Amino acid sequence: MKILVTGGAGFLGSHLCDRLIAEGHEVLCVDNYFTGTRRNIAHLLAHPMFEAARHDVTFPLYVETERIFNLACPASPVHYQHDPVQTTKTSVHGAINMLGLAKRVKARILQASTSEVYGDPDVHPQPEGYWGRVNPIGIRSCYDEGKRCAETLFFDYHRQHRVDIKVMRIFNTYGPRMHPNDGRVVSNFIVQALKGEDITIYGDGQQTRSFCYVDDLIDGMLRLMETEAGFTGPVNVGNPSEFTMLELAELVLNLTKSRSRLVFRPLPSDDPRQRQPDIALAREKLNWEPKVSLHDGLQRTIAYFRTVVG
Ligand code: NAD
Ligand code: UDP
Repeated sequence: MKILVTGGAGFLGSHLCDRLIAEGHEVLCVDNYFTGTRRNIAHLLAHPMFEAARHDVTFPLYVETERIFNLACPASPVHYQHDPVQTTKTSVHGAINMLGLAKRVKARILQASTSEVYGDPDVHPQPEGYWGRVNPIGIRSCYDEGKRCAETLFFDYHRQHRVDIKVMRIFNTYGPRMHPNDGRVVSNFIVQALKGEDITIYGDGQQTRSFCYVDDLIDGMLRLMETEAGFTGPVNVGNPSEFTMLELAELVLNLTKSRSRLVFRPLPSDDPRQRQPDIALAREKLNWEPKVSLHDGLQRTIAYFRTVVG
């Protein structure tokens, strides 16, 4: 098939392009390289079935395609808060442009949505039926509300124009090719541990996240895209094993054999206290569950960061 991947030079997008090329598809990767890098896709550039184009999804795109994976959007708080207006534009205008394209060429389209649509949740773990608890005017809102509005657009294009949609709510995912300076907790802790720098725990470190290894996540994404027409989601994809940030820091210290110290820094505002996906729907509809433990996934990720951190 001809497949378009927006945000294809990013962390998740580049792994997705790898899998699609390995499966024999023709892949067009578009990216504005805001957080992604050509390094992530350098090994694909000479492949006859792969093409990369610099393009910002807030502008219309005219191509032929049968599948669209819409991943374009900075994902780490540091990056999406750097230019919050552009973040909302990327989610909202980007969704409108890609949905318009899907409508015109009758392509199936998958949206990389996020657990952030649940905000700081008061239901735990979070099932898809939970509507969330999101601050509309805080520093995370450009991302959270942008992604919520994108979901709205997906469902309105589906109801109004019969666009064939799949909405995936991705929970914290980590692995090789995360940007070393993107500020997300797994990359921060590993880079700090490898450099012997202090490990920065925000708040008391008792907040939780559930971390999914990238290979598992991409597997779930590919399965969702090929579910029967009419199944739209939203569907949670993530690893339900939940850890506090202190537990994560200890694990990273053990696996890197680092002697870095833990230091405590102020908790950023609106930082969710807990997060764990309810993946019953993914188990049922995608016949999917994660296979890689945090221990094994961190080992692979640490091996990657050893090659990029001097
Ligand atoms: P990333 O920052 O590595 O990748 C995002 C990519 O989108 C980058 O290559 C960036 O340059 C590109 N991009 C940003 N704005 C763009 C624009 N206007 N036009 C074209 N390209 C643009 O992040 P990631 O972790 O790979 O996330 C990919 C997608 O998955 C994002 O939509 C993100 O919201 C979603 N997601 C990721 C996670 C996670 O834990 N990694 C969790 C939930 C949702
Ligand atoms: N965090 C931390 N130290 C860091 C970076 C992040 O303690 O150096 C915390 C952050 O406050 C949050 C959790 O780790 O509670 C996950 O942060 P991340 O930015 O990776 O993802 P998100 O908050 O978007 O889930």
